[in-house]
Amino acid sequence: MGTVREIRIARRTGFCYGVREAIDKAKEARAAGKSTHTLGQVVHNEGVISDLERLGIETVETLDDVDGGAAVVIRAHGVRPDVMERANARGLEVIDGTCTWVIQEHKELVKLVEEGYTIVLLGTPNHAEVVGMLGFAPDAIVVDEEDEWEAKIPRKKRMALISQSTQPPWKFEKLAAFLVSRSHELKIVNTVCPVTIRRQEDTVEAAGDVDLMVVVGGRSSANTKELTRLVGIAGKPAIQIEGWKDLTDASVFDGREVVGITGGTSTPIEDLRDVARRVLEIAGTPEVAARADELAQEALAGAATPAGRTTSLPTFVHNEGAAPTTGAA
Ligand code: SF4
Repeated sequence: MGTVREIRIARRTGFCYGVREAIDKAKEARAAGKSTHTLGQVVHNEGVISDLERLGIETVETLDDVDGGAAVVIRAHGVRPDVMERANARGLEVIDGTCTWVIQEHKELVKLVEEGYTIVLLGTPNHAEVVGMLGFAPDAIVVDEEDEWEAKIPRKKRMALISQSTQPPWKFEKLAAFLVSRSHELKIVNTVCPVTIRRQEDTVEAAGDVDLMVVVGGRSSANTKELTRLVGIAGKPAIQIEGWKDLTDASVFDGREVVGITGGTSTPIEDLRDVARRVLEIAGTPEVAARADELAQEALAGAATPAGRTTSLPTFVHNEGAAPTTGAA
């Protein structure tokens, strides 16, 4: 018999505003009757991609897959400037969904290059945002894990530090301290996105009040993995999943009464509701399991309002593939 009697969804979750706007731009273009494509998956989330496909929005991997005159949406991560130029040269209608925060990163990089700094970029190599950033500062040194800093970062007179938006703040601060010993003049441009920071704060806060946290997001999503890590540091057990379908083993909830749920910046808030419902169905007390659907909606309503969570999904419909509302085990 299940023991879970309550679910709490972390306060500010759902898409970050950058992801949300890129998705909205794609939908608006399609609604206006344009042949619409996104360059790369707008988010690594199966439900969102199939939702877009149903609307007729196709994901393409290269600009060569888009016919002249069609619309191509640049996702929130942004692209290298030459990609933008090529899209324009091919006569495509470019709809720029680059997040305003990422655009600011690009501007800062251009300035740092002009000022002649040796640039250290904290980021995940080959991540789309980092690839785009390198288009503005090709000689930047990309570093990620701490054990590689010593070997990769030379001693230089004038150095600058900048970051991929979703890097954890603690790592950025640690790298800044490391760079003090490597340079005479150090310029720090803190581009860690405030949405990421708030997400982490809310997740840690939620973890304090629950017996176990479920972290929902892409397996390779750095910001999702960081949430899982922070829950561990907060001294609470966490499981990380991509969606409700991954919850097949109710025994992970054995003895837990209050379960928290949080998600990465590419995870729609509807996915958190579906996970809430699933947890209640498979691991709730008999009373709670019988009201899983209603209680999952309540948990969602208990999270921040769309404005408060920096994203808004009032029109987002995500029914297909949703968790079953009956059949508790
Ligand atoms: S995490 Fe921040 S910078 Fe990155 S897309 Fe979202 S809002 Fe923009």
